[in-house]
Amino acid sequence: MKKKLIAGNWKMNGSLAANERLLRAILAELGQPACQVAVAVPSAYLAQCQALLAGSVIDLAAQDVSAQEGGAFTGEISAVMLKDFAVCYAIVGHSERRQYHGESDETVALKAQRALSSGITPIVCVGETLAEREAGRTDEVVKRQLAAVIHANGHCVSEIVVAYEPVWAIGTGKTASPEQAQQVHAVLRAQLKAASSSADRIKLLYGGSMNATNAASLLAQPDIDGGLIGGAALKAPDFLTIIATAA
Ligand code: PEP
Repeated sequence: MKKKLIAGNWKMNGSLAANERLLRAILAELGQPACQVAVAVPSAYLAQCQALLAGSVIDLAAQDVSAQEGGAFTGEISAVMLKDFAVCYAIVGHSERRQYHGESDETVALKAQRALSSGITPIVCVGETLAEREAGRTDEVVKRQLAAVIHANGHCVSEIVVAYEPVWAIGTGKTASPEQAQQVHAVLRAQLKAASSSADRIKLLYGGSMNATNAASLLAQPDIDGGLIGGAALKAPDFLTIIATAA
């Protein structure tokens, strides 16, 4: 059976002291979880978190990766560099990157390609805005975003993780209902099935104000294989509760 994946996205939060406190508090209670666990930390703290997580069951993740291989791209971090810190996953196409950094579907697809070619699993985020949902365009938007990644990555698409993150639910406290989330996950699963005979093993995460209270009902949906967790991943007890829920 496919193990669920619970991935924390710390965004631009943390400090040397806070990261250590948080990871030590999680590791002290974690034991052997039934699901896979990862934390996407700010790149400045990859080395610190790599050391703190060494030998643990928590995988290290990056919040982004460059679409370029290397060279004159000031401020960018390549997939090869992330690999130096034993990074297992890289989030690509988070709505905050699409919105504030103008990342196109094609850029996101290239980022996924770079990650895959370095042996890093891209967590490809897709999701509609509130205006798009209200206009009845949810399926069209998420399918367009995923299609770019499928197109650029061919058969390797079975190696990606997809996170459905409705933009209106991120950091807002508004969550998609389990039924709303499942409906979009089913659309994404069908699209992946049409592209790959191994689509069943692709993990589809839900992200958007998932927390210790609503995680169980979201994770009980047949096509929800885990969660991408923002705010709740910064509180050890909440993150641990979500992990425990994802059996
Ligand atoms: C996210 O940033 O990926 C996210 C899901 O955030 P939050 O859980 O805070 O909505």
